[in-house]
Amino acid sequence: MPLQSPLLSALLVICMGLYAPGTRAAQIDSGNLSEMVKVLASDEFEGRAPGGPGEAKTITYLVDRFKAIGLQPGGKNGSWTQAVPLLKTQVQAPASLAFDIGKDRQALQQAEDIAIETSRPLDRISIEKAPVVFVGFGATAPERDWDDFGDIDLQGKVALFLVNDPDFAAEPEEPVAGRFGNRRMTYYGRWTYKFEEAERRGALAALVIHEDKAAGYGWTVAASGPGENYSLVRPEGSAPPLILRGWLHGDAAARLFAGAGLDLDEQRRLARSPDFQAFELKNASFSADLAVTVERIQSRNVLAVLPGTAYPDEILMASAHWDAYGQGEPDAQGRTIRPGANDDALGTAGILELARVLKAGQPLERSVVFALWTAEESGLLGSAAYAADPVYPLEKTVANLTLDIMQTAGPARDVILVGEGQSDLEGDLERAAAAQDRVVTPENLPENGLFFRADHFSMARGGVPVLLIMGIAGGSDLVDGGREAGDAWIAEYIANCYHQTCDTWDPSWDLRGAVMDVELFHAIIRDLGDSRRWPRWKPGSEFRAERAKSDSIRSGR
Ligand SMILES: [Zn+2]
Repeated sequence: MPLQSPLLSALLVICMGLYAPGTRAAQIDSGNLSEMVKVLASDEFEGRAPGGPGEAKTITYLVDRFKAIGLQPGGKNGSWTQAVPLLKTQVQAPASLAFDIGKDRQALQQAEDIAIETSRPLDRISIEKAPVVFVGFGATAPERDWDDFGDIDLQGKVALFLVNDPDFAAEPEEPVAGRFGNRRMTYYGRWTYKFEEAERRGALAALVIHEDKAAGYGWTVAASGPGENYSLVRPEGSAPPLILRGWLHGDAAARLFAGAGLDLDEQRRLARSPDFQAFELKNASFSADLAVTVERIQSRNVLAVLPGTAYPDEILMASAHWDAYGQGEPDAQGRTIRPGANDDALGTAGILELARVLKAGQPLERSVVFALWTAEESGLLGSAAYAADPVYPLEKTVANLTLDIMQTAGPARDVILVGEGQSDLEGDLERAAAAQDRVVTPENLPENGLFFRADHFSMARGGVPVLLIMGIAGGSDLVDGGREAGDAWIAEYIANCYHQTCDTWDPSWDLRGAVMDVELFHAIIRDLGDSRRWPRWKPGSEFRAERAKSDSIRSGR
């Protein structure tokens, strides 16, 4: 055996140190993902509803994982969690609800003609003949030179909105065409925007007229679980929320308009004109009298941090939501737990794996915060609570990367991009995907507005550039079976398991594609973590203006 040179021996020692068992370059591991989902989606965790024993077990498990990885508490004052106080209200049946038009009374059945809820902690709601204002699409978009409201006063009135945004149904020759992203839904198209706008204007209540195509889902989805609402407890002294909000069935809306001497289809067309102005429906009013039950729930976000070595106040954030749908009505097999294995125990496991791998690798100059949100399924509430009271200033948060549902059908030749045209992070995603010999494919149903329907959106509203990986945003081009197989996987998941008892852990999942997706976030965080770069919103993005307010405080590029 030849003698080794001292230099070679030293190198061997160093290499062995780096690659010794336990410390070798860590990689996202599909076995780890599966193992964590198996625990989080087990019956013991009761479907991880916010509040209650399922939450307590989940929080303990997540904090233990972060501790075992060697991260630090990411909340305020050395805490692993952030309090998220929630309000749950349930409008009781039978409710007395009606439109009056002149002497004609049109009674409304909850869940059939209307689906309303409240976020006011009141025992009883009474509205006596409130005027009804048709506000068209209800958009105030100065950057698009659009305003549906003019100087109309909504105080004490019911605002009636059309769903989606003004150019969704426009013909190519109409002046509005392209003004709101064509088929892609802008935030002005979301019902959440419409309710917020009505509230800003002091309306008593807001109703959105339902249409299958423009809403992206049918009436049964819009009216499922009617009357139930979760919201964040508002700080003392803040403006009260709308007293009622919800969907109005298209047929009920057509009857109301006919009673007022108007044709709903005609009004839909007129509302697509830049000249449209909100107006009160003559002789029409809305009345409601209903009891409400109110419950207060204490829930929590889980936060962990891997501090940066040079710029610890510059934050990269990786997140997923830990909550699922808890227990519901028994299915055909008598199962009541809706375990949210894919949605979003798998995303949560992805963030935990990402944390483990980043901690095991070279330290980064910037900090990485791992956020596991509560109450996503109740309206992005955990992430909204964080954005309203961020532990790390949003101005210095470089990017938020969110995992919410990953496909379990194996490796794919592409990754699906949600919300095309929003930010520079699309370039980061493209580069990371190219390094895996993959390409980026834009989501196939941008009119459904998925970009506004996951927790990254709470951060986007605060100006933070975001990326979302969501397995139901469009079929992947699977190595085994191509796009057709990817689309089939989504169709099967949505039809049978999404938000239902069947979303369970499955040992036969092929997580190789999910592993590659988490690796994309790993690569992007590694790159940005040692960079001085601040990804930016693209011109035309709804979120660019919010970020621009703090441009001057971000140093570097
Ligand atoms: Zn989800």
